Amino acid sequence: MVKKRVDVLVLNSNETITLDSPDGEKGLGIVDNGGVAINQGKIVLAASTDLLERKFHARKTIDAEDEIILPGFVDPHTHLVFAGDRDDEFQLRIAGVSYMEILRKGGGIIETVNRTRQATPESLFESGKQRLDTCLESGSTTVEIKSGYGLRLDDEFKILRTVQRLGKDHPCNIVPTFMGAHAVPPGETSPEYVSSVVNEMLPKVAQAGLAQFCDVFCEQGVFDSIESERILSKAAKLGLKPKIHADQFTDCGGAEVANKHHATSADHLVHSSAEQLEKMMETEVIPVLLPSSSHSLLTGERADARGMLAMGLPVALGTDFSPSNWMLGQLTVAALASRELRMNASEIIRGITINAARALGLENRTGSLHRGKHADLVTLRAPNHRWIGYAYGERVVDNVLIGGEWVVSDGKRIP
Ligand SMILES: [Zn+2]
Repeated sequence: MVKKRVDVLVLNSNETITLDSPDGEKGLGIVDNGGVAINQGKIVLAASTDLLERKFHARKTIDAEDEIILPGFVDPHTHLVFAGDRDDEFQLRIAGVSYMEILRKGGGIIETVNRTRQATPESLFESGKQRLDTCLESGSTTVEIKSGYGLRLDDEFKILRTVQRLGKDHPCNIVPTFMGAHAVPPGETSPEYVSSVVNEMLPKVAQAGLAQFCDVFCEQGVFDSIESERILSKAAKLGLKPKIHADQFTDCGGAEVANKHHATSADHLVHSSAEQLEKMMETEVIPVLLPSSSHSLLTGERADARGMLAMGLPVALGTDFSPSNWMLGQLTVAALASRELRMNASEIIRGITINAARALGLENRTGSLHRGKHADLVTLRAPNHRWIGYAYGERVVDNVLIGGEWVVSDGKRIP
C-alpha cells in the first residue's frame, strides 16, 4: 500500500476515545491501542496504531504510549475576564456568610465590577492570557468567556474587546458572550438597568460583532424571569443566541425562560422543576451543570444530574470560573461531577467534550474525533478512560493540540 502523507500522527495510546460512536448518548467510540491522523488542521482518521502506520507517514509523530487520547475539552461557561480576586470573601463564606448576602451588601460581583472598571485593557488582557494558559494546560481547547463585570457600556465594551483580543492572540478557541445583565449596578434600579441593556448596550454590542451569545443572571433579587425574557428576546432579534443562568439559588423560572426562548443552553439548574427539565428534550436546550460553583459557594446543593441523564438529556459540564469560584480545569470539574453528581466516567467525558460543544453550538466543529472536525485533542497520562473523574487533574495532561497545532507538551504551553 502506498502511504499517504499527513502532517501529524498521534500514536500508541492505550485508548483513543473518539466520541464518534453510533450508540448515541452512551457510546464513547473507544479504539484500543489507537491514535489519530491529522492533516491541515483537521482529523483525517482515528483508528488503531497498526492501521494508521500502514496507511500514513507523517512530518511529525507524537507518542502517546501509556496515555489516553480524547477530544480537547470544551469549557462552555466562564467569567474569565475581570480584575482582582475575592479571596477575602471566600473566608467570609467559610465563616458562614451566604453569597447572596455578600452581594446585597455591595460585595461579590459589585466588588469585582468596581475593580474591573478601574483596570486598564492591557492589565485585563495580561491576566486573561495567564488564565487561558492554565485552561490550556488543563486540557481545554475551547473556552466560552462572558462579560458582565462592567455593567455600563464602555466597560462592557472594554471586557468584550479584551475577549476579542484573547481570541486572536491565544491558541484556545474563544466564544464570546455578552452578559451585561450579570447584576444591577449600584445606584440603579433593575427596570432602569434592564432598559439600558435592551435599548443601549445590546444594539451596540451586536453592531460591533463582539458577542455570539447573550446571557442573563435570572435569580431572585437580580433579574426576574420577565426581565430575563425581555433581554433574551431582544438579543435574539439582534442575532445573539440566548443562554441563561437558571435557578441557581431558587426556582425563579429560569429553565422555563430557556425552554420558551429555545436557549442554546441553560446553566446551573440546581432548583429547576423536573417538568421544565423534561421539556428540554423537545426544546433542545442543553443543560450545563457547574458542580464546582455550588462547591465553592459551600451551599451543599447540587443539580439533579442523575434525573436529567435518566430523561436522556445531553448533560454538559463547565467550570464557571469567576472570582467566587477560582477553578479553571475541566478535570477538576470531572472529579467533582463524579463525587457530587454521581456521574460516571462516560457521562463526564461526554459532558466535557461533545455535550459542552453542543452548549456552544459547536458540535459540528469540535468535541469529538470525527473525520473532518478540527484536530483539537489532548493526551492524558492515564491507563484508561475510567480515570476521568477518578483522579483529580494534577499532572494528568501531557499533550494538547488545537487545529492540529501542538500547543502543550509535557503539560506546559509550548512558547
Ligand atoms: Zn456563571
